Order: sequence, then C-alpha cells, then structure tokens
Amino acid sequence: TEACLTAIDAADALGAFVHKTPEIARERAAAADARLKAGDAPDLCGIPMGIKDLFCTRGVPSQAASRILEGFRPEYESTVSQQLQDAGAVMLGKLNMDEFAMGSSNETSVYGNAVNPWRRGNDDAALTPGGSSGGSASAVAADLCLAATGTDTGGSIRQPAAFTGITGIKPTYGRCSRWGIVAFASSLDQAGPMTKDVRDAAIVLRAMCGHDPKDSTSADLAVPDFEAALTGDIKGKTIGIPREYRMDGMPAEIEKLWSDGADMLRDAGAKIVDISLPHTKYALPAYYVIAPAEASSNLARYDGVRYGRRAKLSQGDGITEMYEKTRAEGFGPEVQRRVMVGTYVLSAGFYDAYYNRARKVRTLIKRDFEQAFDQGVDAILTPATPSAAFPLGMEMDDPVQMYLNDVFTVTVNLAGLPGISVPAGTDKDGLPLGLQLIGRPWEEGDLLNTAYALE
Ligand code: GLN
Repeated sequence: TEACLTAIDAADALGAFVHKTPEIARERAAAADARLKAGDAPDLCGIPMGIKDLFCTRGVPSQAASRILEGFRPEYESTVSQQLQDAGAVMLGKLNMDEFAMGSSNETSVYGNAVNPWRRGNDDAALTPGGSSGGSASAVAADLCLAATGTDTGGSIRQPAAFTGITGIKPTYGRCSRWGIVAFASSLDQAGPMTKDVRDAAIVLRAMCGHDPKDSTSADLAVPDFEAALTGDIKGKTIGIPREYRMDGMPAEIEKLWSDGADMLRDAGAKIVDISLPHTKYALPAYYVIAPAEASSNLARYDGVRYGRRAKLSQGDGITEMYEKTRAEGFGPEVQRRVMVGTYVLSAGFYDAYYNRARKVRTLIKRDFEQAFDQGVDAILTPATPSAAFPLGMEMDDPVQMYLNDVFTVTVNLAGLPGISVPAGTDKDGLPLGLQLIGRPWEEGDLLNTAYALE
C-alpha cells in the first residue's frame, strides 16, 4: 500500500486517480496486517486497489467524473466495493473515467483526461488509455495499484484493457450487483475487474460477484471459485470465429492478431470453427438508441435538489429555471447529447420507430449468440478493438468515429454475455492490442480458462 501511494503521488501527470484516500488506505492496510497475523486472511487481504469514480464509496467523493455531482459524498457504499473491502482489499482512491461512463477515451471527464502510460516508439504524443474506465486501465498498467474496478456498458472494461495491455472481464449481466454504482444504462451496465493477468481477474472477480437483494437483476446463483477453473486445459473446446466481425478496412495487424490468437488456441487443443452472427452490423446503431434511452431516464434524477451541485439562480427564477440551469452547467456536451438522443427516441411519435425497433434488434443479436452456443461453440474469439490506442484529442470532435471504437464489444452487453479482453500482441509501433473472448452465460470460469490459454 505504501509503495502504491508513493507511486500514485509520482504519477499525477497520468491523471488516473481523481481522488486519493491515503488515510483510508493506511487504516485498511493496518487492519489487513492484523488479520494476516491472526491467521485469518481473506482472498484479497491487503491488496491495494483503485475504485472507478462511478462506484459510490461512503464518505468519499463519488462524482462519476461529472460536474453535476460536485460535492456529493454518498452515505452508503456500493455492494461491489463493500464486498471487495470485506475480502480485505485496500482502497487507494477513486479513478478517472468518462463522465457518467459515456465515452471511449476518458476525455469527457470533468477532471480532464487520463493518459495511457504507453507511448508510440519515437512519437511522444500522449495516447488515450481508452474509456470509459480509462483511469482504472492507466492505474493498473502503470503499477499504481494491483487491480481496479471498472464498469462496462458497451465495452468500457474491455476497450481500455486492450489499449493499455491489461486484462479486463465483464461478467454475465446479473453477476455483480449494480447497487450503489451510478446508473448509465441499467439493462447493460455491469461491473468487473481490471487486472494485470487472468489469474488476478479470476480472484478479484470472485470477490465482486454474488446475489444482492438490493438489485433485482442480480442473479441468485452460487459464485464458483474462478481461480480453480484455471487449469490451462482447453482440449476439445470449440472456439467460434464470427465472420461478420471481419470488418471492411480492418488493419492487417488486427487481422494477424486475430488469426495468431486462433492458432494459439488450436495449438492448445481447441477446435476452431467459422460461425455466423448475422445481426452484428445492427448492434452499434441499436446500442446507441438503447443506451441513451436508458441514460436519459436514469439521469433525470440530477435535478439540483437531490444530489450534488445546484446552479446559482437569479432573482425571479423558479423551479424550471433551477432544473435548466443546473443541468445545462452540470452536464458536459457528450452527456447532453445522450440525454437529447434518448429523450427523442423515447418520445411519443418516435418510440416505435427507434426504441422498440432497437429492442427487437437486441433480441435478434442475443439469438445469434444462442444459436452459436447451441451448435456447440464454447467461446467466441474476436479482436477487442478495431485499433490500438489513438492520440488524445483525435476523435473528440467526431462522436460517430468515437462510437465505432465499440464495434466489437457492444454486442456482448446487448446479449448480456460475459466477455474478456486479454493482451495478445502489439501493433507496428509496439502498442498493446487485445483479443476478446465471449463466453456462455454464467460460465465465467470456463471463459477465464480459455483466456488463460491465450496468455
Ligand atoms: N463507449 C461506450 C459508450 O460511450 C461504452 C461505454 C461504457 O461501456 N460505459 O456508451
């Protein structure tokens, strides 16, 4: 913990931590020492971790990287961060992210962007760590903590993990409680760990999972020992390669990464088969209807009364002006765009044309995966992202370009499946690239074991 606190102070330029909690960290580290001495060490006893700012942490600023939550210190602790604490983990502080987890580059944060610790060969342009869990990815990659929490609504664990050369798993929807995590799109949001390798992911994930009566979508299922599933034996497993993920204009190095990954799994004894997920091309448009629709509803609660910041009002302003001014100055441009898109697609005249249509597409996407699994596929291998980390500032003026970052990841959230990104190689400049494995629902152990074979 002391080594991490020192490293964090020396790495302010990365912008990974937005709020440091050294007193809490030292207190919990001391408690962990005592438990260790007493011979009662839980799984994560004394493991220093960072917590994404989307998680409510009792008495500690929890702003979802938004101006509108300025001054908000929750009275309660999210279930996931509480479970980590119960397992002995030590919180070092809160991690940077895109505002309300909306983004793929960590540039929509009110705190400013986090920076990727990786650089291109001779070019010293700072690169994005990805988003929305950019601070988590940057902190783990730069050794500021041993693991971090992330959340993934459309790729926000897997894309930043791929951009920074670390491992990130989004479990099956319902595995981790969403209680106390600031809601973005409730039918898609899932928490998960971001770690240095697959074994750490298995250990931290186990502590994060479990049924929680406070979240009605949390699954009442036993949580297996994911680490015990890491046998390295994948003989006889069937791995599907979905042809629709071979996008036009896919860079040769991504193609190569993908086929090298398939070769590695084949060499380890798996059977590689071509599969079709025919509705893939509709996933991104469906996601960018459903996610903003749910966001516009979830974000209605930020009204200047219940949480955080209220705008300064003028003489004669009524409640409408209070809402308008608070939300206009409290939400950044990307969040405002999502609220407007969401409100539009849910409005009376357009509901059927957009929102309902997107929900039907979502069902078709889910069925594509079910059919593949019914045909005996155990896991699906794809690239995690269409490129390596890009320079900060490069995509900020073009939201559609930014949304394309999620092309390989959003399908997994729409279908509620577990997905993992593991570092699998580098591009021509030596930047990390990730491969994604998608698994059957509730079979995270199996998925982690397949990912383990790729390490
Ligand atoms: N980049 C996607 C978005 O902006 C995904 C974000 C996420 O997974 N939280 O919606």
